[in-house]
Amino acid sequence: MKIAILPGDGIGSEIVNEAVKVLKVLDLSFEMETAVVGGAAYEAAGHPLPETTLQLAKDADAILFGAVGDWKYDKLDRPLRPEQAILGLRKHLGLFANFRPAICYPELVGASSLKPELVAGLDILIIRELTGDIYFGQPRGRRVAVDGHFPGADEAFDTMRYSRPEIERIAHVAFQAARKRNKKVTSVDKANVLETFQFWKDVVTDVHAQYPDVELDHMYVDNAAMQLVKAPKKFDVVVTGNMFGDILSDEAAMLTGSIGMLPSASLDKSNKGLYEPSHGSAPDIAGKGVANPLATILSAAMMLKFSLNQAEAAARIEAAVGTVLAAGLRTPDIWSEGTQKVGTREMGDAVVAAITGKTIKG
Ligand code: NAD
Repeated sequence: MKIAILPGDGIGSEIVNEAVKVLKVLDLSFEMETAVVGGAAYEAAGHPLPETTLQLAKDADAILFGAVGDWKYDKLDRPLRPEQAILGLRKHLGLFANFRPAICYPELVGASSLKPELVAGLDILIIRELTGDIYFGQPRGRRVAVDGHFPGADEAFDTMRYSRPEIERIAHVAFQAARKRNKKVTSVDKANVLETFQFWKDVVTDVHAQYPDVELDHMYVDNAAMQLVKAPKKFDVVVTGNMFGDILSDEAAMLTGSIGMLPSASLDKSNKGLYEPSHGSAPDIAGKGVANPLATILSAAMMLKFSLNQAEAAARIEAAVGTVLAAGLRTPDIWSEGTQKVGTREMGDAVVAAITGKTIKG
């Protein structure tokens, strides 16, 4: 099993180090190879996704990714900005299905911005289509308007589009995931206003005919945003397009207490995947040793489960995270009165200790 390790920028290397440490104590034989990506790759090789990094990602069975980006690169031309690396990897590797579980650990109920009774026991899965929609649609650009409200003015435009096969394959992913959970899918759209999402709704409904054992309902994205903070536990699997999924999955992240807790997987059609925390490179706390590594550690667990066929090892990591939280260890983002504040490295050490049966120390 070959894993490409792409730490990236900001807190990327701090959190990925901890996940690698955890992978190394599992007694599994991995080959791990590290490469630069994002701003670090731009500094080293003049491009956020150098050919050697892309080739390593293609050759590997799975990719463990930290995060990319820093404000200092905001003035670069768009193709050279760090964030293009992640878009490039998704495109070149055909990673069309993004899984973002939002689970509220009992110990972190108090860290959520919602009332404890709304989030206690929360376990929802957001499945976001990742390679289509307005983020990739062509044409896009800037021009002088020939019509609209201000003909002759400068304007910018993007194109929202989805083809039937793109919607069908993500709908299959969602229905199959629901079969392993509570057999309920909510498809989120904006069919009342957008042609693209009326089509989305029609195609999801067509695919649903093959999954009569799974319940399907449809919800407009504005209502979904509201229901996620009003009654999040009503959801099981949520499937939606690239842009709506981007926004709703961050909203769901906050239900669980901190974005530092949320793993994600981006899979291709044969379950090869890129695994990364749901958060970014957090330049505001980079280098301080305070970032929460648990989202990355839990992403490594997803990698073992989805791409490397090591469900048992994944379960050991997940149980260890639960043990560490139950022992009261908290990085600052999830800290509350009465718990023990620890840094990135101590949190990683504690997960390793929980896996290897040693005493957990802060
Ligand atoms: P961010 O997720 O990096 O940070 C948002 C807030 O959450 C910050 O206050 C940060 O300190 C905090 N935070 C994030 N991860 C944390 C962790 N593990 N532990 C504790 N606190 C954590 O989002 P942002 O500030 O909007 O973006 C920063 C940079 O990251 C930008 O350059 C952006 O483009 C990039 N970004 C990259 C990815 C990616 O690599 N997939 C995703 C989102 C944003």
